[in-house]
Amino acid sequence: MIRSAFLAAATLALTSCATVPGIQPPALDVLARDYLAIQLAIGEKDPGYVDAYYGPPELAERAAARDAETTLAELQARVVALDATLGLIRPDPGTLEAERVRYLRAMLSSARVRLRMLRGEEIPFQDEAEGLFGVRPELIDLSTLDPVLARIEELVPGDPSDAPLNERLNAYQDRFIIPNNRLRAVIDAAVAECRARTLPHIPLPESESFDLSLVTDKPWGGFNYYQGDYHSVIEINTDLPTRLDRAVDVGCHEAYPGHHVYSTLIERDRVNALGQVEFTLLPLYSPRAIISEGSAEYGVKLAFPGDSQMEYERDVLAPLAGIDASDIEQYYELREALKGLSGAYYTLAAAYLDETMTREEVIEASMRYRLMSRERAEQSLRFMDTYRSYVINYGLGEQIVGAAVEAGPNGEAADMATRWQRFIGILSTPTLPEDLM
Ligand SMILES: [Zn+2]
Repeated sequence: MIRSAFLAAATLALTSCATVPGIQPPALDVLARDYLAIQLAIGEKDPGYVDAYYGPPELAERAAARDAETTLAELQARVVALDATLGLIRPDPGTLEAERVRYLRAMLSSARVRLRMLRGEEIPFQDEAEGLFGVRPELIDLSTLDPVLARIEELVPGDPSDAPLNERLNAYQDRFIIPNNRLRAVIDAAVAECRARTLPHIPLPESESFDLSLVTDKPWGGFNYYQGDYHSVIEINTDLPTRLDRAVDVGCHEAYPGHHVYSTLIERDRVNALGQVEFTLLPLYSPRAIISEGSAEYGVKLAFPGDSQMEYERDVLAPLAGIDASDIEQYYELREALKGLSGAYYTLAAAYLDETMTREEVIEASMRYRLMSRERAEQSLRFMDTYRSYVINYGLGEQIVGAAVEAGPNGEAADMATRWQRFIGILSTPTLPEDLM
């Protein structure tokens, strides 16, 4: 791990920060290691809890060797104790120390909620989402989506008396499925294009790299396992046929300017430049998840503004995939209209997880209000079974990040250069959702 002169400056500044009189808490670097040890110990109980870790290996080894016998109640007590110790530190506002204390306490607050869940407490969907991710999702009355459905009905080819809307929509969208023997080439081209559109705006370390593979039988659509040293291992799930627009979506989301860029900037600017070891661990359930997923989703619009995603697919990816894209404008009109249904996702997740609807009722409502095929609705439930209220991080995150990046004076949208600068600012600092709202 590379340390720069910033680390010495940060340590010096810490010794001058105020604390509660008479009590001298340990230095923040020590507390940051305690924090990592606790998060790793929770990860031993909750597979998938640690999304990425590339910090001191001895902490992970100790967690694996020793923490198997630790109880969830003991872990809860350790979280509470560390949070109380951090509460004794009163750094000057606006300093790096203040930022670190705030970040660590926000992470611990989510850890407490996750531990309550692991101990069997049933927490209602909205409270769970707010407790883990720092944002309370609004639930909607599904009938408010009827006008959106009527608009989509006008755009989907076929006779309404022949088949339900979701079936006609999916049959139409399936014309854009990438044949299996072209899939790898199309995804590689899309990721390379996402990278080429990102690097001029976000210079990255020379050594940044990723490995990408296509996998099956996963509850998610794509996953970035960040390894440290500016390297990502990206997996894309191909359980369901992949439509043309997904190549760019997934390339931007998992890689450039999404998760790979996010983790690379944090490692460079926080871990290596400032020695803030706490950032070597990315907990899956934390307010940073909504920033991470939201920026990854918004990254598509940033790298492909206006109609450029559609044009790139029409001119480059469709020929590569052997797809006739002569009516891709209609496909994109539908894609835009379908975004109007996004509120149904959290609402149905809430109904499913709070058990106010049965599994079958949620599948049927997903077919009606999210216009999914039965198999895509089932795949979506598989994600909810595993990750529960994590579902809010995508749409809601994109909304929060997008609004913060695009806001201009007098209600006008900011120019593209400003958007990229703000996006970098959000990615490379310990931004919490409350900072953007
Ligand atoms: Zn993601």
